[in-house]
Amino acid sequence: MNDGELTGQVRTHIADVLEPACALHAHVVAPLLSLRRAALADGFDPVPHSSFRDFSRQLTIWNGKFSGERPLLDASGQRVDASASTPHERIEAILAWSALPGASRHHWGTDVDFIDGRATPPGYRVQLTPEEFAPGGLYAPLAEWLEANAARFGFFRPFRGVLSGVQAEPWHFSFAPVADQARRNLRPAVLRKAIEAAPLLGKELVLARLDELHARYVANIDWP
Ligand SMILES: [Zn+2]
Repeated sequence: MNDGELTGQVRTHIADVLEPACALHAHVVAPLLSLRRAALADGFDPVPHSSFRDFSRQLTIWNGKFSGERPLLDASGQRVDASASTPHERIEAILAWSALPGASRHHWGTDVDFIDGRATPPGYRVQLTPEEFAPGGLYAPLAEWLEANAARFGFFRPFRGVLSGVQAEPWHFSFAPVADQARRNLRPAVLRKAIEAAPLLGKELVLARLDELHARYVANIDWP
C-alpha cells in the first residue's frame, strides 16, 4: 500500500463486495468469504457492520466529537461535556473510542467489525458495545465462534485492551498478512504528513504528541 492508501485518502486498494455488502482490500476478499462460508455451516452469519472507512469520514467523526456536535464519552463510557473540558481532555476521550484520521486500521480495508446477521432481530439498531458481545449478549455466540476459528482464516483481534491504547473491541477483526505490513509501513512521518494537510480540530496538539499517539494507537496492538 502507498501512503495515500495507508492513510485512507484514496481507495485504489479497495474492492466493493456485494454479498455480504462491504468494502475490503482486494487481498482480503477471498479470506473473508472463506471465513463466512465456514461460519454459515456452523449456524452463524458474520457480516461486516463496518469495513473500509476513508480519511474524510474519520475526520468528520473526529471533528464532530471535538466540537461537541457528536456525543463524547471518556474511556469509562461517561459523557464528557466538550465545552467544559480542555482540548487535551477531549483528544484523550475521542481516542478511547475513535481513531485519529489517518491512523484507523479501517483505512487499510483489512479490518472489519463483525456482527451476526442471523442473530440480529429486524429493526434492531446495532451499537457495537461490549454488552452485545459478552456472555448473554446478542452476539456472544458469534464472538465465541470467531475467537475459536478466525485464526484459521488469517484473522485476529488487534484490540483486546491489553497493549493497544484502544478499548477492547471483541467485534473488530483484522486480516494479519496484509494488515501487519500496513502497520509497519504507516510510519509516524506518513501519518504526520496526512494530518498536517487536513482541517483537523486540535491539530497543533495532536502534531505535538504525534510520536506518542502513533506508539499507543498504531504500533502497539494485541496479538492472540
Ligand atoms: Zn473496528
